[in-house]
Amino acid sequence: TPSPKYITGDKAAINEFIDKFDTFLFDCDGVLWSGDHVFEGVPETIRMLKAKGKRTVFVTNNSTKSRQDYLKKLSNLHIPCEKEDVFGSSYSAAVYISRILKQPPGKNKVFVIGEAGVEAELAAEGIPCIGGTDEKFRRDVAPEDFQGLADGSLLDPEVGVVLCGLDFHINYLKLSTALHYLRKGAVFLATNTDSTLPMHHSFFMGAGSCMIPLEYASGQKPLELGKPSQAMMDAVEGKFQLDRSRTCMIGDRLNTDIKFGIEGKLGGTLHVLTGVHKKEDWDKEDAVAVPAYYADQLSDLGLVA
Ligand code: PLP
Ligand code: CA
Repeated sequence: TPSPKYITGDKAAINEFIDKFDTFLFDCDGVLWSGDHVFEGVPETIRMLKAKGKRTVFVTNNSTKSRQDYLKKLSNLHIPCEKEDVFGSSYSAAVYISRILKQPPGKNKVFVIGEAGVEAELAAEGIPCIGGTDEKFRRDVAPEDFQGLADGSLLDPEVGVVLCGLDFHINYLKLSTALHYLRKGAVFLATNTDSTLPMHHSFFMGAGSCMIPLEYASGQKPLELGKPSQAMMDAVEGKFQLDRSRTCMIGDRLNTDIKFGIEGKLGGTLHVLTGVHKKEDWDKEDAVAVPAYYADQLSDLGLVA
């Protein structure tokens, strides 16, 4: 694999880079902002790309928020965006369930391990769900639960899918309930499998780390619907009528964003150094993915504005 081209400070290289693409897919956390802090120059950079006629799409693995929540966040941070431009892993999962999986009526309920963002996107696709933020599942396991799960009296016969995302209230009762649905043949899906959740210059448990106990207990692997899953790329392509050769993925994580772009055979990938992975990570022998370009930060593209 050739080494990535460093474009920071190189006006000619930046111009050539921008001209190569019509659509830019942006990872959000680590590229546009860190938590609630927007990186300097990001709104201006997005505005510059839009002024050049480029399409900008925001592709996030964060399943805890809906597209509507993201739109609010983007607009609070003065990043120009419309709801249609947001594509999240909870939306990706909901679209997959409603339009591709198409469970028969009577088996179309989803048991959710996750937050309100997942529930909102399922509701928008008309898919019924249980679990999630329901207080009934946000408690310690009781002796009766073991009996009720074992004899099925606590299980809803209409559940045909288990969807696992990041759940800040994950507990034994939810995981054991999900395990029972999986053992009864429910389809196993994951919004995303990010190992960690980077926050406050530290790392917390990510959605993948919430999901692994279920994979271990059930012996089944979920179908992932966030980056780098090509199920998500296909959904993005379908929605935005992408010309993949004229599309670039911009990200901060090699095993999600950059892998997503490479496996999707996009025209290019740009890695920015404001997030999870650094130069050493692709210089390694066993690097999972090597970007085509890299820059110190997204606003370095603004050199041409
Ligand atoms: N999952 C959760 C719950 C998050 O909060 C975040 C970042 O905020 C992510 C995943 C990663 O999001 P992105 O794909 O935008 O980096
Ligand atoms: Ca990121």
